[in-house]
Amino acid sequence: MITRIVRIEEKNPNPPEMKELGEIIKRGGLVAFPTETVYGLGGDALNPESSKKIYAAKGRPSDNPLIVHIAREEDLDALVSEIPENAKLLSDAFWPGPLTMILKKSPLVPTETTGGLDTVAVRFPSHRTAQELIKAGGGYIAAPSANLSGKPSPTLAKYVLEDLDGRVDAIIDGGDIPIGLESTIVDLTGDVPMILRPGYITKKMLESVLGEVKTDPTILDANSKERPKAPGMRYRHYAPKGELTIVEGSREDVIDYINRALSDAGEADLKTGVIATNETAAFYCADIVKKAGNRNAPEETAASLYRILREFDDENVEVIYSESFQEDGIGDAVMNRLLKAAGHKKIVL
Ligand code: AMP
Ligand code: MG
Repeated sequence: MITRIVRIEEKNPNPPEMKELGEIIKRGGLVAFPTETVYGLGGDALNPESSKKIYAAKGRPSDNPLIVHIAREEDLDALVSEIPENAKLLSDAFWPGPLTMILKKSPLVPTETTGGLDTVAVRFPSHRTAQELIKAGGGYIAAPSANLSGKPSPTLAKYVLEDLDGRVDAIIDGGDIPIGLESTIVDLTGDVPMILRPGYITKKMLESVLGEVKTDPTILDANSKERPKAPGMRYRHYAPKGELTIVEGSREDVIDYINRALSDAGEADLKTGVIATNETAAFYCADIVKKAGNRNAPEETAASLYRILREFDDENVEVIYSESFQEDGIGDAVMNRLLKAAGHKKIVL
């Protein structure tokens, strides 16, 4: 298959090509597209064959359900058996935006899309190009992140192309992605709403609308014997090829510790890298030092993290040290993804 690349700017999200891209989805094909979180790999959510193609293109286990994307709030009705009051409150507060809700599915949604579950994950993205593609494609697009399974989610179209060239019909290049980490997932099928994956919409923001909100205990405890409620969270995600270790402590201690570890790795002839902040980058003596934004701007770290992990792979870096980041705001999601990338290897000084 030859993959077509179409450049579409968000400020002009509905050019004449959009109709054809929508036709590809309606015919059962696949189109990768930008959203405000990461690039998505889209197919018709109501067509079981499309969902099978998505799993095949990503090399993703088919028991890991897809998120269904809509472009009008009222389209939620057809996907779910009932809309609980909490879902109404959340959609009023955070849609369109980076929030995915888990609800009981209606018979319209094929189990191929939900990985065999009787629940469905639904999101209404705020990215205007995503909205236009969803509308042009019939209203319901199933889309996981547009990476090969096991790689970091793509935040630039060139990474989508690297992973999916020849595996999808088209890629919409929308340039940079504003957020850079996947959506917050909240499960509304239990007694108390539960966060299954942290993201830009934080626990505090959800609590301000819903009152009590729990977090899936497996997210907080790496050694938990329980199965994560979002099946995708149990797979080893986002892992760079190099060995990644997070170091937490005072600024001076972290810099000292990492520099000593770097010099050991350098003596062993290993290529080294560091994930630092703008404030500390100059102090490290690694082969490659990456700046993940300002220390007090977790949204900058979120926006650059996946690009940095991919760059380290491309540069064949073998040993990577990362500073730890504050867990407030989207910093919570940053640390969740970073810990996963590190296989939970964190040194606390
Ligand atoms: P991705 O699309 O790559 O961001 O991954 C989608 C995430 O949503 C995965 O972690 C899935 O396990 C999770 N997910 C999708 N549908 C459901 C569902 N019905 N119940 C729980 N988790 C879900
Ligand atoms: Mg993914």
